[in-house]
Amino acid sequence: MQQDTIFDKIIRKEIPADIVYEDDVVMAIKDINPQGPIHVLVLPKNKVTGFDRIEEMGAVEAGKYIIAISKVAEKLNLKDGYRIVFNVGKHGQQTVPYIHAHIIGGRQMGWPPG
Ligand code: 5GP
Repeated sequence: MQQDTIFDKIIRKEIPADIVYEDDVVMAIKDINPQGPIHVLVLPKNKVTGFDRIEEMGAVEAGKYIIAISKVAEKLNLKDGYRIVFNVGKHGQQTVPYIHAHIIGGRQMGWPPG
């Protein structure tokens, strides 16, 4: 039984979020604690707990999700580029066990990441 997370509640619209894009595949919301001028989270409506479980979505749904992330990034108009991050597990500092892509942009990124 999967844990009911804050993102499950946001997807069900039980709690509010600043939704920047939604279709039948994904919901994209502004991160509540942005790490850049633009910080959007892309959540698939077909939930798995993390990027390490993406195979459970099936290839077609996973492909739709990845393409949707790209389309959301395009809509954000980040002409100088952006970063996409999937945090996974303890070392990845994943805090919410509902797969989500971070799209962060609007500033110069550094490498290596912290
Ligand atoms: P993680 O650390 O799991 O990769 O990322 C979780 C992200 O969700 C964090 O960047 C955090 O700021 C964001 N977050 C946590 N709770 C909420 C919330 O209630 N609403 C929104 N919009 N973002 C949240």
